[in-house]
Amino acid sequence: MKKKYILSFNQDSVNKPVTYDLIKNFDIKINIIKANISADEAGHLLVEMEADQENMEKCFQYLDENRVEYVPAENRIIFDQEKCVDCGSCTAVCFAEALTLDPETRELQFHPEKCVFCKLCTKACPLGLFEIRFNE
Ligand code: SF4
Ligand code: SF4
Repeated sequence: MKKKYILSFNQDSVNKPVTYDLIKNFDIKINIIKANISADEAGHLLVEMEADQENMEKCFQYLDENRVEYVPAENRIIFDQEKCVDCGSCTAVCFAEALTLDPETRELQFHPEKCVFCKLCTKACPLGLFEIRFNE
């Protein structure tokens, strides 16, 4: 399985070699996409993690034991798609191609699994339909 998560570190866990341990002990493939973290402060990582089911369960157990919070990244994306008018402004800034216009219908297509939390869509949308929560 392969999925993006936001990992949140408190002051105790921020200095632990968490990503190293996950790779070494549980054979997790980790791609760090975004980081806001520094020594002695709480911090956050957006990571894509890939492993089989058994190792992912061990990974989550390790994170629980080390008081590192993890949430699926998609849970931190708020998009009021029902109000969208398909103007396309957000697609022009979304370099990750999480937001695209269908070439035939010209309707907005949203692919949250591709989002990299750059937050550019929050300013590009004239209706303010996006809320991207990373540092929470
Ligand atoms: S935050 Fe918005 S613009 Fe940035 S990748 Fe995600 S959907 Fe695209
Ligand atoms: S900018 Fe806002 S209204 Fe325009 S297509 Fe994107 S989400 Fe819809």
